[in-house]
This record gives sequence, structure tokens and C-alpha cells, in this order.
Amino acid sequence: MKTPADQIMTLEAELEETYRSVTELTNELEEIREKLEHLSLYDELTGLPNRNLFRDRFETFKQLANRQDKPFAVFLMDLNRFKTINDTFGHEAGDKVLRVIAERLKQRLRGTDTVARVGGDEFAFLLQLRDAEKDGAEIAGEIVNIVRQPIDIDNTPVDVGASIGITFFPTHSGDLSELLRHADRSMYEAKKRGGGFVFHDGTTAVQGDVKLPIFLGEIQKAVENGEMAFHMQPKIEMQTMKWCGSEALMRWQCPKRGLIMPDDFIPLAERSPLIVPLTRVSLTMALERLASADLSDHANSISINLSPRSLHDPGLADEVMAQLRDTRQLAELLVFEITESALMIEPEKAVQTLTQFASLGVRISIDDFGTGYSSLSYLSQLPVTEVKIDRSFVRKMHAHKEDLAIIQSLVDLANKLDMTVVAEGVETKEDWITLADLGCHLAQGYYISRPVPTDELDIWSARWHTKMDGESLTA
Ligand code: C2E
Ligand code: CA
Ligand code: CA
Repeated sequence: MKTPADQIMTLEAELEETYRSVTELTNELEEIREKLEHLSLYDELTGLPNRNLFRDRFETFKQLANRQDKPFAVFLMDLNRFKTINDTFGHEAGDKVLRVIAERLKQRLRGTDTVARVGGDEFAFLLQLRDAEKDGAEIAGEIVNIVRQPIDIDNTPVDVGASIGITFFPTHSGDLSELLRHADRSMYEAKKRGGGFVFHDGTTAVQGDVKLPIFLGEIQKAVENGEMAFHMQPKIEMQTMKWCGSEALMRWQCPKRGLIMPDDFIPLAERSPLIVPLTRVSLTMALERLASADLSDHANSISINLSPRSLHDPGLADEVMAQLRDTRQLAELLVFEITESALMIEPEKAVQTLTQFASLGVRISIDDFGTGYSSLSYLSQLPVTEVKIDRSFVRKMHAHKEDLAIIQSLVDLANKLDMTVVAEGVETKEDWITLADLGCHLAQGYYISRPVPTDELDIWSARWHTKMDGESLTA
């Protein structure tokens, strides 16, 4: 039998227990309430304020501005190429891009600023500025740069750009909806100009991608529409002065922009799976040309550039194998130019693919040799038959004895290893004479011919032979 004192103690303990659970429950409820509030005010994916909180913050900014005479800016930003990234790499990649950019923006902005995600790839900013125009341009430029830093997607650095429209409170309006409408219009103006930022009054120029930027999706369409063409640049055997082959260099005949050089779109394509269909275009062109050529003219080969990514694309390797298996005669006139760096990515796999290609008769040439770190003796263990000395050595060889010495030892070693040396960027008669003296086997460059449309090769060839008949090209 419990004494009344015991009963009171038990009751007290129970009460305490109940109190504890009630407190716990209250805390949990509070947490849930906070979470709910957070959800209604924050964007789940990026953790940035959402449209609702942005409106709230605008009211606070507005009150502060009215009380302390502090004008502020409203920016609206849209990402460039976001749709292409989603389409090319999938939605998870798109989400990653948004998270990375949100994180970078959080890092950069001051505590007094607000950046919100207000739509799919749309962000809005509230920024206090001392000097509206000057500070506005400075921070907008900085945001463009922050966004522009490549983002890693499946080991591919992906470029995203930004287009920003800029308005000021109260100069352009005191009403948020109106400010956003103005900002939206300027943002589209920026987008039209290729990214960067535009002020509401349209006065300030765009900073960002200066040339009309090229989007991956456009390259894809261009391939589908057959807008990719090739200019051919002949290679000459120095001893005999005979035309022995040509390098196919891609050109994009864009109906909107005119002729676009490969340096303006290949590097972009190379960072995406799109380079594979591009490589397929050059392969098809080369094979068609070779198939229609008179094969009794054995010497005339076609070189195509194989990007690192293409070299590692299993589908492409299989396709090449299938297309060339029964046409050894054609394969022997095909040269694949690859850079040293392509060999450095998964070297074992690269060598395996090259060995397969070589077994069909295709020749492998190392492009831009000397710009990487591989040695000729390493390359000689691979099925490589040709090295192309990078243009930079040829350009400097007259002024710098070291470059001359490098070319000389390269030629000597190549002779021992039974490899062909091609000099790139032969621009003058003086270049030609020096390189011939050094024993270079083949030459390519403006001195011989610029890259020309395929149907002009014959005209060039006729002129070249006349020119050679009349000139002596020895020292
Ligand atoms: P590359 O393979 O090193 O091609 C040689 C580049 O040097 C070409 O530029 C050519 O026009 C230029 N060149 C030739 N002779 C001279 C000369 O005497 N002096 C000077 N200054 N330049 C000369 P291009 O056609 O603009 O191509 C640039 C690069 O784009 C190529 O460099 C190659 O890496 C890439 N490329 C071109 N076509 C293709 C392609 O079909 N596929 C891939 N993956 N890359 C390509
Ligand atoms: Ca090349
Ligand atoms: Ca080259």
C-alpha cells in the first residue's frame, strides 16, 4: 500500500514526464511550422528565396528606400543555353546547374542583398547600390562572370551564360510588377544580343559573350541541315614537290551569321557529345571523296581531325570499322589526325582503338606535335606513322635557334623511327627552304595554299605545278 506521500511523488514524476513529452511535441510542431514556412518561402531545389519571399523582401527594401532615401536595383536574370543542357544531358544535369549557380550567387552576394529563384532558370535580385549606374554595371558584370564559369557535368565542363535586365527603384517604377516587366524586356534584349546585361533605358551595352554566342542546339541543327562543309588544305612532299594529300578543315556555312571557323564552334562541340555527329560528317565526306576519286592516283590521301571525345566513342569506332572493313584501298588513303592530349585520356583504350584503325590500313598522325608532353619514342610504340610539328615552332624557328634544333632532332629521330614529319604553318618561301634543309618530309601552309573549297583544289593544283616549274625551292 503506497503512502499518500509516495502517491504524490509518483504523480509528480508522471506529470514531469507528460510535461517533457508536451515540450518535445511543441518543439516538433514548431519545427514543422518552420519547415512549412520555409517551403512556402524558399525554393526547394536551390534553397534560395522563392517568388513569395522575394515580394516580401521587396516591401522591406521599398520601406527602407523611402525612409532613408536608398534607391536599389531589381535585376532579372535568365540562363543561356539552359534548355540545351537539359536536352543534351538530362534534367538531373539541369538541376545540378541550378544548384551550383545558386550556391555561387549566395557566396558572392552581401547579407543585405537578395537573390531569389523565381522561375525555371530565372533569378531575381534586389541590390542596394551607392551609385546606381556604376555599381549596377559592376555587379551585373560580376554575376555574368560567376555564372559563366564552367560547371562539371559527367566530367564535361559545361558553359552556361547569363542574360540580365536591370531596373532601378524608384527611378523606373515604384511598383514591383512594373519593375519586373521592364527588367524582363531588358533581359530579352540582352539575350538577343548574346548574353550579358542591359539597363532598362537600353543605354548600357552588353558585357559578356561578345560575339554572337553559339549554342549547342544550333550546331546540332546545322549538322542535320547539312550546313557543315569542308575546306581542303593540300600537303606537299618537299623533296619531289608533289601533292600527296589534303587535310579536311570544317567550316560552318551558317545562314544567319555567314561562314564560321572551326575554332568558334569545335571547342564547344568537343565538350559535349555533339562532337561525335560532327566527326561522322567529316568521315562520311572523306570516304565519299575517296570513293569517287581515281584510286590509281595512289598518293592523294585525306586527313580528318579526330577529337579526343570521338576517339573514345565506342559507337564511332565500330562504325569506322564497319565502313572500312571491306575497303582497304580507301582506308589506306585515310589519315586520322589526333592530338597528343587525346592519347593521354585513357591511354590504354586510345591505343586499342588506334590499333584497330591501323589494322584496317588507316594512318594515324599526331597533330600539333610539341605542344603536349609526349615523346616521339613513346609515340613510336603506337601505330603512329606521322607527326605534324606545331605551327608555333615553324613560326619561331628563324628567330630562335632552339626551335630550329628541336625540329632538326625531331626529323632525325623520326627518320630512325620510320615516321613522316609534316611541318604546319609554312607561310613563306624562307620557311619552306629552311624546313626542306632540315629534311622535313611534308609541308602544309599558306605558302602552298590556304584551305580551299573542295572544287577549287584542281585549280590550285594546276597553278601549283606551274609555279613550281618556274621556281627553285632549294637553298
Ligand atoms: P589544325 O588541325 O591544327 O588545323 C590547322 C589550322 O591551321 C587550320 O585552321 C588552318 O587553316 C590553319 N593554317 C593552315 N596553314 C596555315 C598557315 O600557313 N598559317 C597559319 N597562321 N595558319 C594556317 P582552321 O581551319 O581554322 O582550323 C582550326 C582547328 O579546328 C584545326 O586545327 C582543328 O583542330 C580544328 N578542326 C578543323 N576542322 C575540324 C574537324 O572537322 N573536326 C575536328 N575535331 N576539329 C577540326
Ligand atoms: Ca589537324
Ligand atoms: Ca595542327
